[in-house]
Amino acid sequence: MKILVPVKRVVDYNVKIRVKPDGTGVELANVKMSMNPFDEIAVEEALRLKEAGKAEEVVVVSIGPAKAEETLRTGLAMGADRAILVETDDTVEPLAVAKILKGVAEAEAPGLVIMGKQAIDDDSNQTGQMLAALLKCGQATFASKVELAEGSAKVTREVDGGLQTIDVKLPAIVTTDLRLNEPRYASLPNIMKAKKKPLDKKTPSDFGVDTAQRLKVLKTEEPGGRKAGIKVKTVAELVEKLKTEAGVL
Ligand code: AMP
Repeated sequence: MKILVPVKRVVDYNVKIRVKPDGTGVELANVKMSMNPFDEIAVEEALRLKEAGKAEEVVVVSIGPAKAEETLRTGLAMGADRAILVETDDTVEPLAVAKILKGVAEAEAPGLVIMGKQAIDDDSNQTGQMLAALLKCGQATFASKVELAEGSAKVTREVDGGLQTIDVKLPAIVTTDLRLNEPRYASLPNIMKAKKKPLDKKTPSDFGVDTAQRLKVLKTEEPGGRKAGIKVKTVAELVEKLKTEAGVL
């Protein structure tokens, strides 16, 4: 079985985000970019399934600028076999990403697609669900455990206040939650080897997808700063302030 893993190039999670002075978006010039953390978890899970003999090939795919090749090379250095870059300089919204991934999935016929539950730049949490709908296949979102059986997958999902275990028929889409695994670091020899692994280049038009945007960002703002605190002398004063000023009692 083949596993397809979509990986997105996003601003590194350690970077302090700065909003552009004109509010049209966030500053991306000279900012460290990395693989979306949930996608690293997806690559790791695919590799573990391959190592357990449940899959033969792991293919990583990214839709983005030429520099997304670095993100794909990271996936290859972790252990993926092959990469596909669907190159575009436009910002591609989740629906168009899902349509492109549908094209890739139809060409590659994976038994399983494992992807992040959410990209940390747009926080959309949409692509996996839309891809499942477009492919008319099952989906198991927010996975914290994945077990493959013959023709199906048993997936434990993190839901409000607990865990839910479902059985989904393959091919299916699984989206990863934080606790699914801890991704490995790529070793230096594997980083060197990754440079020689195959990377195919495509464009959205190869899949007949129009990436024109449907949404317009009206405004981007920094979170409001925290107000300075105050000291109170007595518990009674604290309770009074919580009642009358904070309005929490
Ligand atoms: P989102 O719906 O944007 O929050 O993204 C959810 C998941 O879809 C991500 O974790 C990725 O696995 C995948 N994804 C989103 N955008 C892209 C992209 N441009 N290239 C590859 N995968 C993507």
